[in-house]
Amino acid sequence: MDQTVHKVVIIGSGPAGQTAAIYAGRALLQPVLFEGGFLTSGDLMTSGGQLMITSEVENFPGFPQGVTGPELVERCREQAKRFGTDHREDVIDEVDFSGFPLRLKTGSGEWIAAATVIIATGANAKWLGIESEQRYMNRGVSACATCDGAFYKDVHVVVVGGGDSAMEEATFLTRYASEVTIVHRRDSFRASKIMADRVMKHPKIKVQWNVGVEEIVGDGKKVTAVRLKSTTDGAISEMPCGAVFMAIGHQPNTQIFGGQLELRPDGYIKLDGFTQTSAPGVFAAGDVADSRYRQAISAAGMGCMAAIDAEKLVEAYEAAGKLGAHG
Ligand code: NAP
Repeated sequence: MDQTVHKVVIIGSGPAGQTAAIYAGRALLQPVLFEGGFLTSGDLMTSGGQLMITSEVENFPGFPQGVTGPELVERCREQAKRFGTDHREDVIDEVDFSGFPLRLKTGSGEWIAAATVIIATGANAKWLGIESEQRYMNRGVSACATCDGAFYKDVHVVVVGGGDSAMEEATFLTRYASEVTIVHRRDSFRASKIMADRVMKHPKIKVQWNVGVEEIVGDGKKVTAVRLKSTTDGAISEMPCGAVFMAIGHQPNTQIFGGQLELRPDGYIKLDGFTQTSAPGVFAAGDVADSRYRQAISAAGMGCMAAIDAEKLVEAYEAAGKLGAHG
């Protein structure tokens, strides 16, 4: 077993994790960052978080012409590497935060020790939870237009949801689809005005208000329609389509922290107001602890805050002689 007590271990490689690594690296804490992986459409995607499935990021300062999600992640990773981050292509699948040092079990079965941990595991897409959605997963059902949109060239596709993700997915899908219909359970969008306006003006996008998806209909091999139920009068209708993209929000990746950290009722990590979790030495940043802003820039900002908080604690541990010289 590796006896080293790392000064800071970061879990997650999206903007929160990479920014934490840049700051921790510049503070000479020699951060170890577990890049992880996440599930979407039933497939294991590369690390980097949700930005890896984001086509165009137009609102990250410093990129006046926009930047693709994967490029932004790669630039952050390079920057973190420049300051000595040890990026590991592995996951953490168990933790023991009951005392000092904090302990983490890697996907390859090794336990490692850390003085501080920064959790930046992000969030994943939510699903409707109906049986037919599972049956047609990757055969017309998806939660990632960037990943799967190109499969549905010249077909009618449906997008479920009324937030910014639904607007973004629908707009992106117009590149391929013959027509896009957004189905939303209410009569107004939750999305920001600029994105909703873009959708409403788009000649290829239609909106069906006040309906929920009852069932994904298929021929056994692929999706052929969605069965909709009116949320006002309960009327059932069927809309032919070749694919259904879910854009109904996200769920934080906190499964392995249950019992070790205090979580909020919605599953997000509970913070003290800054980045400190309920376990001493454990900090959290980005979408795993933020259900409100959920932006790449706010995640990056929290990553910076968590690294500064971790650095202060490492300093205190060093002053108290709690960390060995090799740390
Ligand atoms: P969201 O804002 O939580 O919206 C989820 C949408 O799905 C809502 O319209 C909700 O309906 C609907 N919904 C939820 N559960 C449903 C169900 N079971 N059946 C049918 N509909 C359901 O999530 P989001 O769109 O993923 O956005 C999350 C955050 O990321 C937001 O802060 C957003 O601004 C941000 N974001 C930003 C960008 C960008 O700026 N480029 C892009 C994507 C996301 P109700 O409205 O009725 O609740």
